[in-house]
Amino acid sequence: MIQIKNIYAGYFGREVLKNVSFDVERKDFFGIIGKNGAGKSTLLKIFSNLLKSYKGNALIDNKDLESFKSKELAKRLSFLPQYSDMSMPFSVFEFIMFARFPYMNMFKFPSKSDYKAIERVMEFLNITNLSERKITELSGGEKQKVLIAQVLAQETDIIIFDEPTSHLDIGSQNNILKLLRDLNEKHNKTIILTIHDLNAAAEFCNKLLLLENGSICRCGTPEEVLNYKDIERVYNTAVVVKTNPISNRPYVIPVSG
Ligand code: ADP
Repeated sequence: MIQIKNIYAGYFGREVLKNVSFDVERKDFFGIIGKNGAGKSTLLKIFSNLLKSYKGNALIDNKDLESFKSKELAKRLSFLPQYSDMSMPFSVFEFIMFARFPYMNMFKFPSKSDYKAIERVMEFLNITNLSERKITELSGGEKQKVLIAQVLAQETDIIIFDEPTSHLDIGSQNNILKLLRDLNEKHNKTIILTIHDLNAAAEFCNKLLLLENGSICRCGTPEEVLNYKDIERVYNTAVVVKTNPISNRPYVIPVSG
């Protein structure tokens, strides 16, 4: 579905991604991991067409990303960046409605189907009761759900998240990731995300890509990627890798000594 072929990219002549190639299949729950500064967000910027000056090819269904018109791409792929501006006092409903822009007519008036799409998403996320609340007055977990509602309202088959759980406590993190899993399993969405928590990544993703200084260290199942040798080298710390007896997925424990 998505093919990344021999990508080189960077900023102001400094190379950040070096010869990166991999595929994401339809319905993958694809996690991108690696140290701070490894190039994870840069890779997502290429997926979402925010970074256009790169060498190599990024394809969706064999069509080069660069050849998509922006509205056309916005119907295939939605992107939730790490930081979103929620400082204006829009209501939750208004804020989610912005996502319907690619579907609106030339006069930019929402249609019945735009309203229906938003109602569906709010029901799915169980936030219908927040509809009239101001986005500036929500808790961290509620804000994250509203941001997810906004990307879902775009109704794309591929959804990309840059660290969707980074500021959340373990319970809220698990709830958001379970929600993404539902989208993946029950609604056939292809999910691509960057995530720092290796254990959450192993638990929820079917494929992981480990970036090391802008190059691919490993790409495969969590069992293939989370081996202690690679993790110790990439993160420069001693770890033990065990298997979660309930899920049978690997988990990583840092060793202090
Ligand atoms: P990660 O998401 O893995 O933390 P990033 O892709 O954000 O890594 O950053 C990779 C490298 O690119 C870092 O050295 C960072 O400083 C640099 N970088 C990221 N964004 C920019 C930018 N807009 N301008 C210049 N350098 C950038």
